[in-house]
Amino acid sequence: MELQLFNTLTRQKEIFTQPDQSPVKMYSCGPTVYGFAHIGNLRTYVFSDLLRRTLEYNGFKVAQVMNSTDVGHLTDDADQGEDKVEQQAKREAKSALELTRSYEEAFLHDLDALHIERPTQWLRASEHIQEQIALIQQLEAKGVTYQTSDGIYYDTSTFPRYGEFARLHTAGQQEGARVQVNTEKRHPTDFALWKFSPANQQRQMEWGSPWGVGFPGWHLECSAMVMKAFGPTADIHTGGIDHIPVHHTNEIAQSEAVTGQALARFWLHGEFLIIDEGRMGKSEGNALTLKTLQAKAFDPIAYRFWLLQTHYRTKLNFTWEALEAAQRGWQNMTAEIERWGAIEPGQRNEDFEQRFHEAINNDLDLPKSMAITWELLRSEIPTNDKLATLLGFDRVLGLGIESIRPITLPEELNTLLQERETARQAKDWEKADTLRQQLLDAGYVVEDRPSGAFVRRA
Ligand code: AMP
Ligand code: ZN
Repeated sequence: MELQLFNTLTRQKEIFTQPDQSPVKMYSCGPTVYGFAHIGNLRTYVFSDLLRRTLEYNGFKVAQVMNSTDVGHLTDDADQGEDKVEQQAKREAKSALELTRSYEEAFLHDLDALHIERPTQWLRASEHIQEQIALIQQLEAKGVTYQTSDGIYYDTSTFPRYGEFARLHTAGQQEGARVQVNTEKRHPTDFALWKFSPANQQRQMEWGSPWGVGFPGWHLECSAMVMKAFGPTADIHTGGIDHIPVHHTNEIAQSEAVTGQALARFWLHGEFLIIDEGRMGKSEGNALTLKTLQAKAFDPIAYRFWLLQTHYRTKLNFTWEALEAAQRGWQNMTAEIERWGAIEPGQRNEDFEQRFHEAINNDLDLPKSMAITWELLRSEIPTNDKLATLLGFDRVLGLGIESIRPITLPEELNTLLQERETARQAKDWEKADTLRQQLLDAGYVVEDRPSGAFVRRA
């Protein structure tokens, strides 16, 4: 079955193939590790996880590289402002190393909690300084760089296709007005490859280079790491939608000016999680973390379950009510499966499987595949076949279906349940409530549904 993916490069769905059957070279721009990832960032990583799992479902092997931006990301994208990591390290009175390692660890925990498969390779910007310097030297040899008082810059006017990827009209484009515009830049879109350490300030993270002591520009690390891990061209490159006009546009200019080859065959971008009609972001002050959700008794998987209901190229507005509804939906699904009792998986249902596969292969139509999953659960096919089919779906959904243990109530609790049913029928509500409480104390919630008593784990 063909796998169609929406390629930002061409702005259309294209058939993805891997002619030589080698592992798919997938590069996912990683987090800037100066704080906890917010659930918006995590939406982007759930999206790349779904992409990776879909590729695996289709029989591809995937080699996924993710970078850790632990140096060089400035508070303003126009190469001005402070280094986010250095600034936060001062605030938390930690070394940059302590800070970034602890947030990297927190990030990887978030990935685990959301059942996001860990990247096969995790590369740190600060550990690839020589590769980045070498890349600047190659760019210098091509004559596409220039030096200013604060760094080495890429002259974007030398790259004729600059901005084509983002459909940018660069003529007359203004730099953001939030910080003072760098007057030494030749064009507003030029960007730093290497920044000099300020003369009056000792940075924690700085390195010697042919041009002077300093640190690499933010965009450079991804170009250097793709090259290191995969050579000139990755099969797939992913990130959030905000990366299109600046970060990925600049990665393309840097890499392709040197290699003369496409940086990636497919580019996929996840839409934003928004809140109160605005982007969720750390600097916007509206960021929620997975910890916040957990503190409010939300299961991280309820968040994943919620994300599955919206296509990755659609904006998604966060509300607590929506998350509550998702948590209920996830509990219902779990309870349904628990209720099947102790069974062995049977035969996978080909019809359901075919429809599910078609949905995910249509540019990851997870909302549709979730609808098919519910249909499967409510269908008349034998329970053990449902379970087998569902376990197959879960290779993509990543909900952790296999760890749902069927409920087989111990004998004495089963008796309590029967007694409660009898009490209810006799409209002895007091007794029914007492029995319900006893079951709850034993770890089981009883819900009364039109179909009868419904038991799930507390
Ligand atoms: P950062 O840690 O800022 O480098 O961002 C990590 C990833 O999160 C990038 O791929 C961004 O595009 C993505 N991202 C940032 N904000 C959001 C948001 N509100 N919704 C979805 N993805 C986001
Ligand atoms: Zn990147």
